[in-house]
Amino acid sequence: MTTEQKKLRVGWFTFTCCEDSTVIFTELLNDHWQEWKKLIDFRHARVLKSHNVLDELDVAFVEGALSSQAHIDKLKEIRQKSKKIVAVGSCAVVGLPSAQRNTFGPEDIEAIREPYLEKFNYLPKVLKLAEVVKIDAQLPGCPMDPKAFLKLVGEMLKEFNITS
Ligand code: SF4
Repeated sequence: MTTEQKKLRVGWFTFTCCEDSTVIFTELLNDHWQEWKKLIDFRHARVLKSHNVLDELDVAFVEGALSSQAHIDKLKEIRQKSKKIVAVGSCAVVGLPSAQRNTFGPEDIEAIREPYLEKFNYLPKVLKLAEVVKIDAQLPGCPMDPKAFLKLVGEMLKEFNITS
């Protein structure tokens, strides 16, 4: 009888940003897919598949800053369902560059008020992830450093007893 390989349950989520860390993540799959598919269950990764599940996750990688109440609600749901949350990239870690409008003066805010802030129901300020939920780890950089991502994935695989 063969025992089934336990897999790390992972989600990849994106809020307000340019998604360059997502591009890096998918580029890394060129070299790591064969290895990762045996060890990682990508429960939620819209860049990889259309059927995604947000259920119990070991690790949620979250890219981008928060611009709306819907983003806040979604991140709180991710927090509730994830053992670890990793903030991916500068926008998630410190808010910038996605939070640039936080520094706008009254004239510039007025210029974007109706066509953007009101139209899309945006918050008055863009938030970094840590302003809303507890973050367990972070991958700074704009975009993230692929080597740091690979190192963290290796650590998570060990921490959750997927590899020794
Ligand atoms: S941190 Fe940089 S690369 Fe990542 S989403 Fe923000 S702007 Fe794009």
